[in-house]
Amino acid sequence: LAQLFRPLDMLGMVYRTIRQGLIDMEAMFRLIDTPAEIVDAPGAPALHVVAGEVRFDNVRFGYDPDREILKGVSFTVPAGRTLAIVGPSGAGKSTIARLLFRFYDVTGGRILIDGQDVRAVTQASLRGAIGIVPQDMVLFNDTVGYNIAYGRQGADMAAIEVAARDASVHDFITGLPLGYDTRVGERGLKLSGGEKQRVAIARTLLKDPPVLVLDEATSALDSRTEAEIQDVLGRIARRRTTLVVAHRLSTVVDADEIIVLDGGMVAERGRHADLVRAGGLYATMWARQAAEREEEGVPA
Ligand code: ATP
Repeated sequence: LAQLFRPLDMLGMVYRTIRQGLIDMEAMFRLIDTPAEIVDAPGAPALHVVAGEVRFDNVRFGYDPDREILKGVSFTVPAGRTLAIVGPSGAGKSTIARLLFRFYDVTGGRILIDGQDVRAVTQASLRGAIGIVPQDMVLFNDTVGYNIAYGRQGADMAAIEVAARDASVHDFITGLPLGYDTRVGERGLKLSGGEKQRVAIARTLLKDPPVLVLDEATSALDSRTEAEIQDVLGRIARRRTTLVVAHRLSTVVDADEIIVLDGGMVAERGRHADLVRAGGLYATMWARQAAEREEEGVPA
């Protein structure tokens, strides 16, 4: 009997790992479908994105009823602007992104996109409107072209190439043995963290969503690769409403607004320079990271 249960255990583990990591939402939905408790409201209309404003209105949420993670979080990201979410590890930054996708339902307050509650629209239309560049994308065991094309069903080669160029990954791909037909993933060519992230960016560019979630890498990329990726991300965020889930602070300097989560609430908010000047939690985190970077010999 134990033999029988082991694979089930494994599945459970895979499920939890995937759910935890906000890895690749789209791949994940193919794999496991949405949890049973999240269902479309009867007759729910499609989300109609006009401008792309994202609003959290007094949002409360806990994975377990007796442990609230978000205790009334409010913010508005105006259409086309960038909001960075920072805070200590475990503060609930990735949780905010999961709630925006309606991977879970809030227990209080509401989440609105252009005034429409995410619970009132179809999940397919909601997820179609949001692109995510995850910190560690899982590639399908297929060609690199397929992996990019997954962003938009039926995309032609020309469109795939444009997206790859915009993500600064085209030259790398054409240098591979079979170019766009090179197989990648677990059973194919293994790509580096930076290469994978650029493929993820190309996929997102092809999808061309009005709302973007960047789950910033915690994994160490070398500083040149990181600078290149930051540059590409900066470009793709420019025309879109963007939420940056920032595990480090080096990339939030240019955000239109930064919110600092602490103890389930927004402890501070403002732009980088204001927050540094205010001398609170953000300023402390910034000073600590600057010192760490100096120790590592990385220019701040
Ligand atoms: P980090 O910067 O370390 O990635 P974070 O701010 O993104 O952290 P979250 O991943 O949002 O933090 O997690 C917030 C809290 O919720 C943590 O205490 C975490 O342990 C808990 N948590 C996250 N996912 C689950 C889950 N699926 N079930 C139960 N608790 C969870």
